[in-house]
Amino acid sequence: MSDGSAVRVALVTGGSRGIGRAAALRLADMGAAVAVLYRENREAVEECIESLREKGADCLAVRADVSISGEAARSVREVLERWGRLDILVNNAGIRRDGLCLRLDESHWGEVLATNLSGAFYCLREALRPMLRRRWGRIINVASVAGLTGSPGQANYCASKAGLLGLTRSVAREVASRNITVNAVAPGLIETDMTSDLDPRMLGDLGSRIPMGRMGRPEEVAEVIAFLASEEASYLTGQVICVDGGMLS
Ligand code: NDP
Repeated sequence: MSDGSAVRVALVTGGSRGIGRAAALRLADMGAAVAVLYRENREAVEECIESLREKGADCLAVRADVSISGEAARSVREVLERWGRLDILVNNAGIRRDGLCLRLDESHWGEVLATNLSGAFYCLREALRPMLRRRWGRIINVASVAGLTGSPGQANYCASKAGLLGLTRSVAREVASRNITVNAVAPGLIETDMTSDLDPRMLGDLGSRIPMGRMGRPEEVAEVIAFLASEEASYLTGQVICVDGGMLS
């Protein structure tokens, strides 16, 4: 994966666990140098960095809270200081704080929007500069099928993911002429820490709506992220790809 000269450099937010971790490892398999952004779980990021090193990958752990614009900007600067370039941004960091709308705590509304939507915007805005300079870039936003369908008890989460789709489509149009693509993946129900505490009733309900009859694996989402990050995905922008076992088919 090169433009004929150098190794691509990727930043994966929330890269220490779940889907982000799988994406970081997959991008390393493609030959990219990878920065893994995490918020607080040091043990998880250390394990991820160890796995990347075992693959012989050039990698870096970056601690930042993407919901704080200054921290998101610093994370991009750390990547530029280390490698002098940033080619691939995977906006994957995300949280859930569920509750029925009527009783939804304002702080839970704010936290989810700040992390899932504003965090992606802060990282993207900062990453665009080095991409524009090189006239090459791949931005992949990790949304959710819930952002397309809605989900009871997850108004904040769904609003953040729907917003992410609007961000994706708008920025895709802004930078298409500069050889920078901006796409989203919308996973369905994936086996990660995020889904490990889901209400069994909710899991059962969601499960019954998956034609493939099973949850997805983080690696199955990572594969699509890797394709969108590749040279081969050069004529694909502003798209949303559902990785959901057929849920929305
Ligand atoms: P996990 O809960 O397994 O991992 C979340 C990751 O995000 C961790 O690396 C965590 O860091 C990081 N993170 C959370 N908040 C912040 C923050 N403020 N700043 C920086 N990093 C942060 O999540 P998943 O792998 O399940 O989900 C990844 C993405 O995929 C999310 O955006 C999620 O909404 C989306 N998604 C997931 C689905 C699923 O079924 N799992 C379905 C659809 C979409 P730390 O380890 O330090 O806490």
